[in-house]
Order: sequence, then structure tokens, then C-alpha cells
Amino acid sequence: MSATPKPGLSTLAIHAGEARQKIGDAITDAIICASTYTFTSTQAVIDFIEQKQEREEYGRYGNPGEKVVEKKLAALEGGEEAILYASGMAAIVGLLMAKLNAGDEVVFFDECYHRSREFCTKHLSRFGVVTRQVRACDYDAMAAAINPNTKLLISESPTNPHLSVVDLARFADLGRRHKVETLIDATLGTPYNIRPIEFGIDYVLHSATKYLGGHNDLLAGVIIGSKSKLEDVRKLRGIMGAINGPHNIYLLERGLKTFELRMQRHNENGQAIAEFLAAHPRVERVYYPGLKAHPYYELARQQMRGYGGLVTFLVKDADWRQTANIVDSTKIARIAPSLGGVESLIEQPLVMSYYEIPTEDRQRFGIPDNMIRLSCGIENTEDLIADLAQALGAK
Ligand SMILES: *Cc1c(COP(=O)(O)O)cnc(C)c1O
Repeated sequence: MSATPKPGLSTLAIHAGEARQKIGDAITDAIICASTYTFTSTQAVIDFIEQKQEREEYGRYGNPGEKVVEKKLAALEGGEEAILYASGMAAIVGLLMAKLNAGDEVVFFDECYHRSREFCTKHLSRFGVVTRQVRACDYDAMAAAINPNTKLLISESPTNPHLSVVDLARFADLGRRHKVETLIDATLGTPYNIRPIEFGIDYVLHSATKYLGGHNDLLAGVIIGSKSKLEDVRKLRGIMGAINGPHNIYLLERGLKTFELRMQRHNENGQAIAEFLAAHPRVERVYYPGLKAHPYYELARQQMRGYGGLVTFLVKDADWRQTANIVDSTKIARIAPSLGGVESLIEQPLVMSYYEIPTEDRQRFGIPDNMIRLSCGIENTEDLIADLAQALGAK
């Protein structure tokens, strides 16, 4: 008998984690609306507590749909265990709360999602955890920030909105050499485009609200890693209660079925739009790792399969109002925060995320007035390009 080939991402996205024969002989999983689960006898309770039987107990600790989606996500990422949360932020908060004690330190690359950094600097600080931030992709600065109290190194890859690409092998090695665990928020990359676990990263985090759910209709988050490392994280989630309702879980399971197909189109659209923008006379600069001019192009080529749907660009000689006019002139992309869904979304980071941030801080974060961030959906490429072309004609 020949060895069974390793299943592809679509096969995993469609079948992994699911029972072959399901409730009611249905092809799809049931949405089980139950706050609690019944036992047939006292002995059945005892058997469950003594772990002789795997089953549900109470809704805060999990539900059957969640188990399916967790297995699916672990399979897609190539990790042992996945823990599902109510949002990406709930996932990172859950991991950090489980792993860090008073006196511990975390080091971030500074292009990480601002709410993740804010949780550390404003809230974990109240519990005696110290947060250090160094320039994204400055590995020497990160090494210098590590001391005997350091417990976790955190980065995103690619980062948002600058699409910087972290050298995952180097990042993982930095952690290993200093005996510090590593976390990569791979929301923008997705398991289609980057595989952090294969580079030795300990924890991979996704806002499943974005590409994994993929339809702009749900919030969820996930952490993937080894079973042993995630045991305490799962226990804390059972206490936090940051779980998904059964309908939300079903939406995620359904969205995941087309994950690979969607990513292929997101990648195609991202690349085509980035190339179109790079050649456009009104565009000063494009941030997209699939462009040769991008500072991380070579690294991205070695480490990624595609570069996703997020494209950031600067409008040439435009003030914030002229930039806003371009955003307002698009007819397909909708103005909204978020990314990774089938609908294209467009926004001006200055207005959407940094309106209340002091100018000098904004400049330090590299968010100029003339920056636009476009999350390419899966509409037809020609239509997105035609729409951008007419919007860039706006004065
Ligand atoms: C959106 C996002 C988050 C937060 O996820 P939510 O699901 O909105 O809580 C974290 N990291 C990145 C990179 C994101 O884009």
C-alpha cells in the first residue's frame, strides 16, 4: 500500500475535525444550543471527572461545534492544539494572562496591533508585568531587550499597515537561545501564506474575524501551539468565559470551507492592485511584500506562499483631505476598519485608527496623512482596478 499523501489545505478545511456521520445523518454539523450537558447517572459524572469519557460538561468549557473548529484550525496550521476565543483580542489576553506573572517581561516589535500593545502597557502593567517595545525587525534591539525576567517575544508577520515581514527562523532562534517563548500574530499571513510553527515559533495567534472567518460576519480568535504549552491557557479560558456561541462557531466552520480558494483570490487581488498602484502617477509609495521595491521582498519570497489582500499606499502630494476624497470616491470597497473578508474595505489610518493620537506619536508609528489601507476582497480583479483608477482620478 502506498502512503497516503498529506492532505491539502482545502481538504483539511472541509473535512478535518468533523465526524464522518453526524447528528440526524446531516452532511453539516449541528448547531447545538445548550448551556449545559446532561449525564445519565452519577457514575457517568464520576467517569467524566476521572477522564474515562470525553464529552461536554458545561457551556463555558466548550461545546461540540467548537471542538470541530478547533481541530480544523489546528490541522490547517499544522499545530497540535487550537483554542478558540470570542475574538482575536480575547485570544491574546487569554494567552498573556495564563503565561505571565508579576515581574515577568514581554518584548514586542513595535508594529504590533495597537490594542495588543495597549493591553500590555496599560493593563498587564497593573499586575507588575513589564512591556518593552523595540523597532519592528530589529533583532539586535530585541536581543538587547531580553533579560532573565523575559518570558515572551511577540510580533506580527506581516505587520499592519506597513506589511513588514519578520524573519521567523531568526525570531524563533532568538527565543530558543534565550529560553524565551515566541508568539507570532499571523492574522495577516494566514496558514495559507505563512507557517510559523514550521519555523519553531511556540504560539501562533489569529484574529479569525479576518481571513479565517472571511465573510465580515463574525468575530473570533484562536491560539495554536503544542498541547502541553496550551494546557494552562485552556484552563484559564474556562474561567474567563471568552467563548463563542454555537451560531458563531457554525459561521466560522462554514467560512473555513472556502479558506484556500478565498486566499488564492485575495493573494491575486493584492498582488495585482499593488502592481497597479506602484505604476500609478498619483501614488508615492506602495507597501506590499510581493513588490520588488518592498524592503522585505526577498525574505517574503523565501518564507511566504503569497502576500495576502492587504495593500497600503501613500498618495503623492496629497493632504489628508485629498486622500480622504480618494477613499470616498471608491464605489466597490466600503469604508470600514477590519480586513480579510470577501468584501473589499478601504480606510485612511489617520482617520480610522489614529484620529485621537497625538501627531508626533502618529509620525513615530509611520502613519502619514496621505496613507490609505485597502483590504482587497475577492471581487473580480479588473473591477477593483477599474474602481481604484476612477477613485484616483478624484481631486
Ligand atoms: C483584528 C486584529 C486583531 C484583533 O482581533 P479581533 O478579532 O478584532 O479581536 C489582532 N491582531 C491583528 C493583526 C488584527 O488584524
